[in-house]
Amino acid sequence: MIKVDQEKCIGCGLCAGICPETFQMNAEGKSEPVSQEVSNCAQNAGASCPVGAISL
Ligand code: SF4
Repeated sequence: MIKVDQEKCIGCGLCAGICPETFQMNAEGKSEPVSQEVSNCAQNAGASCPVGAISL
């Protein structure tokens, strides 16, 4: 299951830029998964998160 740790996320927006089909920024300025498809771009976004907030 794709998850974003809301405590760790610093709201840099990188994941949403890399994979907007899976990650979108919410009203708190944090990333949220909007799909549970573990696509290539979702994996790239997970690997690119600077604080390791994404698990998938
Ligand atoms: S890349 Fe990581 S820190 Fe940046 S918005 Fe996404 S989950 Fe948050």
